[in-house]
Amino acid sequence: ISPSELVQATLANIKQLNPDLNAFIAINDHVSAPQTVSQDQVLQAIPLAIKDNILTTDLKTTAGSKMLANFQSVYPATVMEKLLQAGVVNIGKTNMDEFAMGSSTETSYFGVTKNPWNAQKVPGGSSGGSAAAVASGQVLAALGTDTGGSIRQPASFNGIFGIKPTYGRVSRWGVIAFSSSLDQVGVLSRHVADSAQVLQTISGFDQRDNTSSQQAVPDFSQIKADVRGLKVAVPEEFMGAGVDAGVREQVQKGIKLLDQNGALVETVKLPHAQYAVQVYYIIASSEASSNLQRYDGIRYGYRAQDVQNLEDVYVRSRSEGFGDEVKRRIMLGTFALSTGYFDAYFNKAAQVRTLINDDFDKVFQDFDLIVGPTSPTTAFDIGSRIDDPVVMYMNDILTIPANLAGLPAASVPVGFADGMPVGLQMIAPAFKEQTIFNAAQLVE
Ligand code: GLN
Repeated sequence: ISPSELVQATLANIKQLNPDLNAFIAINDHVSAPQTVSQDQVLQAIPLAIKDNILTTDLKTTAGSKMLANFQSVYPATVMEKLLQAGVVNIGKTNMDEFAMGSSTETSYFGVTKNPWNAQKVPGGSSGGSAAAVASGQVLAALGTDTGGSIRQPASFNGIFGIKPTYGRVSRWGVIAFSSSLDQVGVLSRHVADSAQVLQTISGFDQRDNTSSQQAVPDFSQIKADVRGLKVAVPEEFMGAGVDAGVREQVQKGIKLLDQNGALVETVKLPHAQYAVQVYYIIASSEASSNLQRYDGIRYGYRAQDVQNLEDVYVRSRSEGFGDEVKRRIMLGTFALSTGYFDAYFNKAAQVRTLINDDFDKVFQDFDLIVGPTSPTTAFDIGSRIDDPVVMYMNDILTIPANLAGLPAASVPVGFADGMPVGLQMIAPAFKEQTIFNAAQLVE
């Protein structure tokens, strides 16, 4: 099969599946495949899907919002630039919760994506389109972003692998900001090895992102599915009553597999993890309220019609351009940052964040890897949680701690409960993505 045959076959498959699944917001119809493939470029001519909050120059970047429904960037994100240099074909932009705020892809302006395993179920979120595109066999890997679980939870709900690297490992330049101290770009794929290869390509220092790390990037593709002597911690808080029995059973099966292959498994405590959701919603919403100020109807994005004056431009453009969940976060964040409340909310949240991070530091003095469930449940029904934000938010309780601490974390498919996939979460010390790839390769 030639590069252009591969691209044409991929496009034909996407066009056939997308009317039902809705994994893609935009399909790159006119993309041309490279004519030749060189031996050393392992991603040369490989079609990948890109989450629609990552800037591309050949397709619009909407962030799943009416606000940016017609936004065309004039420059690509660093990650996109790196993929294109490696010969990757951007086959399309994937559906997502509006500005990556959500856990089900139901807040997208472009309609919900369906879970390929069961069309009644959500694909998870916010990278639900990327996960569904991979799980349904449309692409072998896709880029996603993860602020509080948006790669790992959809990977778990779709029975695929998904990894969020260490904060700073991958450039955020050209990625539409949600919460700058938490956002990271990562990869979703059917196989662990493919994520390793793509992560390898997009990682590394970028002077255009001032939180980008100078740490050398190891060759992630050198995977050894070997866990002998690996010290594995299972936080008891991750296996409690809030986790569905079916999920716990599959996760225990995965842990047993590590144990049988020579890992040393012990139970530990992460006492402050129980506050992660509350801390996250103050910090993430505060940062979002600041990041989203730029959508004012003047510089770019949606502008309301028939306006009376400047104030009217701002108010009506934002009122009409943003959806309910985004407005809820902006209001929450503006409140938490306002005079008189800053100390009680934002500052307090920042302090508890430090305690959560200290818990991880302590565990990693004695262990190489933390494992547990990715999500307390399997994929839930479309429409069942969208009207209850608190129930929706609590779904992320197991993924958020790794973002608050900036740690690399992944979800590996481990089995099924009631016919839906279950993911095993792996969290490693900063810059130890390789430990995750090695252990995940054994479990997958
Ligand atoms: N579900 C979480 C939220 O709604 C996390 C989203 C994400 O990681 N982008 O904020």
